[in-house]
Amino acid sequence: MRATIMHAPGDVRVEDRDKPTIQKPTDAVIKLAAACVCGSDLWPYRGADKISRPVPMGHEYVGVVEEVGADVKNVTPGQFVVGSFIASDNTCEICRSGYQSGCVHRQGVSGSQAEYLRVPLADGTLVATPGIPDADKVPSLLAASDVLGTGWFAAKAAQVGPGKTVAVVGDGAVGLLGVLAARQMGAERIIAMSRHTDRQALAREFGATDIVVERGDAGVKKIKELTGGLGAHSVLEAVGTQESMLQAIHATRAGGHVGFVGVSHDVSLPGRDLFSSHVHLHGGPAPVRQYLPDLIDLILRGDINPGKVFDLELPLEQAAEAYKAMDERRAIKVLLRP
Ligand SMILES: [Zn+2]
Repeated sequence: MRATIMHAPGDVRVEDRDKPTIQKPTDAVIKLAAACVCGSDLWPYRGADKISRPVPMGHEYVGVVEEVGADVKNVTPGQFVVGSFIASDNTCEICRSGYQSGCVHRQGVSGSQAEYLRVPLADGTLVATPGIPDADKVPSLLAASDVLGTGWFAAKAAQVGPGKTVAVVGDGAVGLLGVLAARQMGAERIIAMSRHTDRQALAREFGATDIVVERGDAGVKKIKELTGGLGAHSVLEAVGTQESMLQAIHATRAGGHVGFVGVSHDVSLPGRDLFSSHVHLHGGPAPVRQYLPDLIDLILRGDINPGKVFDLELPLEQAAEAYKAMDERRAIKVLLRP
C-alpha cells in the first residue's frame, strides 16, 4: 500500500509499505476514506520534535472496516467508522469517567496518511455511522476524529456555556472548531484571536462575534478592553507555546477557566502568575471518543459543518505538498484522498 513517511524535518515521502494486518484479536484494519495533515504533524516537520527513525504519519481517520480480530464485537467489516488518535478500551474506570484519552490501556494510533490503517482496541475506539455516509459528509466526519473533538474538549474544559464570553487563542483548525463548539454550547460572545483574513472569515462563519488581531500582552489588553476590564469567562488555548499559554491565562477573568489543547512545547508556567490569576486550568489530549457519537449525529443531521476547515484537497501521493502548504500557512488544513 502507499503510505506517508517522515524521514527528517521537512522530508515527507509517500512510499510503498506493507499493508497492515490484524496483530491482536482486538485489532481492526480499516480502508481509509480520507486522511489529513494535523497542525501537530508540523512540530516534527519543523524540527521542534525529534525524529530518530522514519515515522509513518497521520492520526486522524475515517474509513470502512476491512477486517477485524477474533475478539472484536462492536464493529464489523463493511461498516464506515470514525475513531480517535488515542485507542482506548472504553471500559476501564478512566474511560467510563469520560477520559478515554487517559485510558489505562491507551495506545497512540499512527500511520493514517495511507491507504490502510490498523486500529488497536477496535471495540472501544471505533464508532460506526448508520450506513455509509454521503461523500459530502466525509470531511466533517474526518474532522470529528481529532480537530473537532479537540476543539470541543477545549470548550468543555473551559466551561463554555450560555451567557459566557469566550476567547480563542489560535486560529488553526482546532481553534476555529473551538469557535464552532462554543457556538453550539450557547456562548454569548466569542472572540477569535487571528491575524489572517481567511481564518477570520471562517471564524465568523463558525460563530465568532469579535476578532482580535493583536497577540501576546497586546492581545490580552484587547480582550480586557472588550470585557469591561475583567477578561473572558472561558479561554480556549489551541497553540501550545509559552506565549499562547500566558496569553490564555492572562486573558481569563478571576474565577474563569482555560481549556488548553495545543500540544505543549517548552511551556513553563510561572508559579506566581498562576497563584495570583484565580484561573482554573484544564486540558491535555482530548477524550475525542467521549464526544464522537454526539458529534457524528450533529454532522449527519447537518447541524454543523466542521469539514470547512479543509481548504485544500490533494491526492495522497502529494502528501509532501500538503505539509508544505500547511507549514507555509497557505492552507488551514489539507485533506488527502487515498
Ligand atoms: Zn479505558
